Amino acid sequence: MIPYSRQYISRQDIKAVLNTLKSDFLTQGPAVSKFENSLSKFSGAEYAIATSSATGALHVACLALGVGTDDWVWTSPNSFVASANCARYCGAKIDFVDIDPFTANMSVVKLAEKLEVAKKSGKLPKVVILVHFAGQSCEMDKIYDLSQVYGFKIIEDASHAIGGKFRGEMIGNCRYSDITVFSFHPVKIITTGEGGAALTNSVEIARKLRLLSNHGITREKELFNEVGPDEIWNYQQINLGFNYRMTDIQAALGTSQLSKINKFMKARYKIVKYYNHSFQCFPLSVLYVAPYSLSANHLYVIRVESHLQKSLYLHLKKFGIEANLHYIPIHLQPYFSKLGFKQGDFPESEKHFKTAISIPIYIGLKRYKQKRVINSINEFFKK
Ligand SMILES: *Cc1c(COP(=O)(O)O)cnc(C)c1O
Repeated sequence: MIPYSRQYISRQDIKAVLNTLKSDFLTQGPAVSKFENSLSKFSGAEYAIATSSATGALHVACLALGVGTDDWVWTSPNSFVASANCARYCGAKIDFVDIDPFTANMSVVKLAEKLEVAKKSGKLPKVVILVHFAGQSCEMDKIYDLSQVYGFKIIEDASHAIGGKFRGEMIGNCRYSDITVFSFHPVKIITTGEGGAALTNSVEIARKLRLLSNHGITREKELFNEVGPDEIWNYQQINLGFNYRMTDIQAALGTSQLSKINKFMKARYKIVKYYNHSFQCFPLSVLYVAPYSLSANHLYVIRVESHLQKSLYLHLKKFGIEANLHYIPIHLQPYFSKLGFKQGDFPESEKHFKTAISIPIYIGLKRYKQKRVINSINEFFKK
């Protein structure tokens, strides 16, 4: 079976995990801060907080920016449900902004239009969560300018995009956002098994993120409450947090994986180039990559005529190729329909959903396997 994505684990990765298993700490030890330092150095953000998942990181990111029950949070319908669920965890109201059909990222034009309408009705969002779909950054400079006009905060859901660049700078440096979130699930660019991280340049936000992902507990004496337990016992819980900690086992794997990311980027790019080259005369289209972008190439999405989508998917399956669909629009999921969203609300996302298929791209995808994918697609169109 050729999956649409999977992890790549080297001997060095295995050694790093084994060494941690034999060390004094399996969690809350030195491997976590080492990974966090590597992440902040790699991405260029001041602070990195490693978490047990990107979903957890998104949740504490919303909380750290003050999202509560009276607030609106907006995101893209073309994402994994976690991009919207994080707002719901805080009790906030969720809404979506439709995508640009060429990049499948949130449309800046539609965002600007929706903000203007929301301003008139007093329903401006507190936070907008941008999803860098398939590894390509959204137009963060323009979105940042809008945030200055309308006064919202920005979270980048960069679950697809570690290693990618926007206007020559690393995604994750938070130049245009308050917080950036990465995912290290095995199908993503680098993995820790389960895992994620939240990055920021603000010392106050970093402190909140750390507190919220560790039960609301602090060991920093200057944060201690006077009426709390004696300092000698070393810690106080000063607000309500969660256990979203990453383990040392995961972090050791993460550091080892991150050290190979430039190689990973090159390998992914090679796969993309070969697909692009092979598909030139095929009746399909691919995502537009803007000149301001260096995509991390998490996904390779092709689009076919909507009446062919399912049969192509099944055809590939018959040949042992496990394609996938990114994404069923979030607003069409039953849970979100119950909140009042319906078919037709975000037509570009719905059109994308009817035509897109993600075909295999991962580090261990050998050329002969990639050729099998291309030949299978070719045979499908010849039929
Ligand atoms: C994978 C993914 C998530 C969730 O990541 P986890 O680490 O599995 O919690 C969130 N948003 C997007 C866009 C993703 O692709």
